[in-house]
Amino acid sequence: MASISTIKTLGDLRRARAASPEAFPRRSVKNEVRDNLIAKLRSGETLFPGIIGYDDTVIPQLVNAVLSRHNFILLGLRGQAKSRILRALASLLDEHLPVVAGCEIHDDPLEPICSACRMRIAAEGDDTNIAWLPREARYVEKLATPDVTIADMLGDIDPIKAARSGLQLSDELTIHYGLLPRANRGIFGINELPDLAGKIQVGLFNILQEGDIQIKGYPVRLPLDLLMVFTANPEDYTARGKIITPLKDRIGSEIRTHYPATRQHAMEITAQEAWLNRDGDATRIDVPGYVREVVEEIAFQARADRKIDRRSGVSQRLAITCLENVLSNAERRALSNAEGQIVARVTDVYAALPSITGKFELEYEGELKGADNVARELIRASVANVFAERFGQVDMRRVIEWFDLGGSLQTSDTSSAKELLAQARGVQGLVELTEHLHVGPKASEAALASAVDFVLEGLYAQKKISRSDERGYHGAEPPQQRRPTTRAAERDVDEGIPLPGGKKKYYN
Ligand SMILES: [Zn+2]
Repeated sequence: MASISTIKTLGDLRRARAASPEAFPRRSVKNEVRDNLIAKLRSGETLFPGIIGYDDTVIPQLVNAVLSRHNFILLGLRGQAKSRILRALASLLDEHLPVVAGCEIHDDPLEPICSACRMRIAAEGDDTNIAWLPREARYVEKLATPDVTIADMLGDIDPIKAARSGLQLSDELTIHYGLLPRANRGIFGINELPDLAGKIQVGLFNILQEGDIQIKGYPVRLPLDLLMVFTANPEDYTARGKIITPLKDRIGSEIRTHYPATRQHAMEITAQEAWLNRDGDATRIDVPGYVREVVEEIAFQARADRKIDRRSGVSQRLAITCLENVLSNAERRALSNAEGQIVARVTDVYAALPSITGKFELEYEGELKGADNVARELIRASVANVFAERFGQVDMRRVIEWFDLGGSLQTSDTSSAKELLAQARGVQGLVELTEHLHVGPKASEAALASAVDFVLEGLYAQKKISRSDERGYHGAEPPQQRRPTTRAAERDVDEGIPLPGGKKKYYN
């Protein structure tokens, strides 16, 4: 059988097809994608590796849309992997596609639609050169913005080209093709479709409906072969723009995406996307499960919080960037203490505030509180939740009593593991509590310190002990002076006085 490296001309292609038609099928993009999907379904292959949590919801609907040969739209809030899904569709294209070499719209050598190719093939016949287009080059994506023009999208008449070649302006040869014709015989994705001006949506509709383009009033017949896919944020249907009815009507399927339904799914997505394997040395770095859970829980809490605008959503990117920042704070601590082992702590999540606050829009009530305070409350609620899951049945009275009797700890998010453990060992029963996290006695100091930090932060989040971050405050002060100061400090923390990374923390 001829391989694509030996098929270089139209004649080669004709002969190869005659010898084995099934190896070089001719079909529309929608049929090609459908056939390849069917083959994957038969073989039981994972359809879209890396798309997590959609197996029972979005993927079946997507499969049905492709099997139906529909153009389709994904509707969902930000950070729901919409663009990622569209890009993954390219994996359903053939690995290589024969095109007329040099044709801007990737004409089929056996049935060219542009007049330049038709003229060329008439002149050169079977000697016409062909090229093989790899599948990655056949997915074209455009983010819709209000300033996208017809010329960008469909094309423009090039008067200079017309003058030079002595052609009428209406001649197809004078067209400078836009993105859409250049995506011919591939998949064209438009993100945020409602942001596209109405007249351009009309242009898209004409392509879908009639295979016609109108450029500057000149009608050009161009029966493009495309799978068109779109994304939109449901909020934008009303808020910013809309999808014109005739175009909406031509979009075969409307598929709704969603945020991860479970914390487990969310953690898998974050683990896949976040940059955690730093310096290529994974053995030095550890982000314990409870830290990952806290980070993930923040997004879940935020999506349910009345102070946060639900219609604009809370992207999964919140958890991803937060976890990266958490690890960076742990990295910074290890560097400043010259520690070899980097183990993230729950305390690091508070230091990751800058990666959280930009990821949500606030409602009026949230605006009054300020993004930092809202984020800090989210973290505290998340820690409380995760801590309750791990320590719900554990008797912690001994440790709480120790603090109630006036005991105190002075730490900061840059305390070395040694420092933190030395203090923790002074609290009866505290280090022992970490056994519930399956941190064995053989665990590294850094891992043990992280577990102790989680217990302290958990008790604080559940308001069983208090924590202040008052500058210059020292645990060595006599109890009668410390008491009132601490209470004042506790009130401040509850009301959300900023707690930037690096500041001292005081538990009692
Ligand atoms: Zn052509």
